[in-house]
Amino acid sequence: MSATRWHAPYAWLPGGLARDVVFEIEDGRFTAVLPDTPGGAAGAARRLPGIVLPGLANAHSHAFHRALRGRTHDRGGDFWSWRERMYGVARRLDPDGYLALARATYAEMALAGITCVGEFHYLHHGPDGTPYGDRNAMGEALRQAAAEAGIRLTLLDTLYLAGGLTPEGHTPLDGPQRRYGDGDVEGWADRVAELKPSAGMRVGVAVHSVRAVPREALAGVRDTAAGRPLHVHLSEQPAENAACEGHYGLTPTGLLEAEGLLGPMTTAVHATHLTEADIAALGQSRTTACLCPTTERDLADGIGPARALRDAGAPLSLGSDQHAVIDLLEEARALEMHERLRTLRRGRFDPGDLLGAATAHDGLGWPDAGRLEPGARADLVAVRLDTPRTAGIAPDQIVFAATAADVDTVVVDGRVVVEAGRHVLGDVAALLKAAVEPLWETG
Ligand SMILES: [Zn+2]
Repeated sequence: MSATRWHAPYAWLPGGLARDVVFEIEDGRFTAVLPDTPGGAAGAARRLPGIVLPGLANAHSHAFHRALRGRTHDRGGDFWSWRERMYGVARRLDPDGYLALARATYAEMALAGITCVGEFHYLHHGPDGTPYGDRNAMGEALRQAAAEAGIRLTLLDTLYLAGGLTPEGHTPLDGPQRRYGDGDVEGWADRVAELKPSAGMRVGVAVHSVRAVPREALAGVRDTAAGRPLHVHLSEQPAENAACEGHYGLTPTGLLEAEGLLGPMTTAVHATHLTEADIAALGQSRTTACLCPTTERDLADGIGPARALRDAGAPLSLGSDQHAVIDLLEEARALEMHERLRTLRRGRFDPGDLLGAATAHDGLGWPDAGRLEPGARADLVAVRLDTPRTAGIAPDQIVFAATAADVDTVVVDGRVVVEAGRHVLGDVAALLKAAVEPLWETG
């Protein structure tokens, strides 16, 4: 691959906002990043509009939940009633339908400036729990979907053994949950071992939650992770805490700590309802906290202690989770706005903190991405400064004004995936419609 040269009026470099920045890219990496190069737009350089951000990292995704958008928000109820609707969609997916839905969903992510997704994947088997001929057919559909959509994937293959947790113990998988299960932790690890990384995909592991994985299986997950990313839904709902404390006499965080699952390669997703001891344990172990603000508010989960976690030492990342919204700029903004609502104080995070959370690739196992600097993976996200939303703003406050609709150009590992707001696959809305509507047809 020959070298390419780009110029942008503004860019968010590791030191903050810079002007007149030239990027040189070779073999998918930045070879030079040169601020204050006013003549940089001349000659062979390709011009990017507005402000260039590092590639955005969507640290928590369930691709198939995209089918629930705009179909589940008008009901009352809570997380648990929403979950019943989600199971109804899960029941209808096979590898072909999953490929179509995930490809369209990941293409929507690319349009939003997301260059890497962490897919928390538990839809493993056929509807009655029988494995497909290739036991990883659903995971392989996700690999293909991400490759065709042009973004990187960390496949977080998820252990899911129990239907729920009560103070009396775990309940068996039931109904649609049967397709999530591998029988035991050994069966799961055996299947995960058959998944191989490829150029655009890394393999990580996940514990669905302490509701779905009994304590005796946790050490097996830690050993299977073997230094790869390990994600877990943590304390999203007070009911999970109550069941865990009732059964084990420990909070979910306390249980994970006792079993050695916390650490710098672990990401705790949601981390909403925590004790002070939980926050200290997550921070001291350098466990990443992945907040999903648009999901947490849609499902009436609550507001997590984001600033307290960061102050304790936990890095922050962001995810669009159920994809009611796919807009990492909105998630980043919500991190600050929810803190304001919770604390009655403004300025809890500065724009650099918020963009840092939106571009955090470490917890997905790509430590060489998410920064505009020589040697890093060449991801570029150009956000326009001349749209009705962004016209007239100070570029260093882009995170408080722009939305996914303002993303113009997206480059992933040196490859142009989105240009002038159009994805290389063409009409992404048509792809989404074709993938979603059959899942809701009755009869
Ligand atoms: Zn989730």
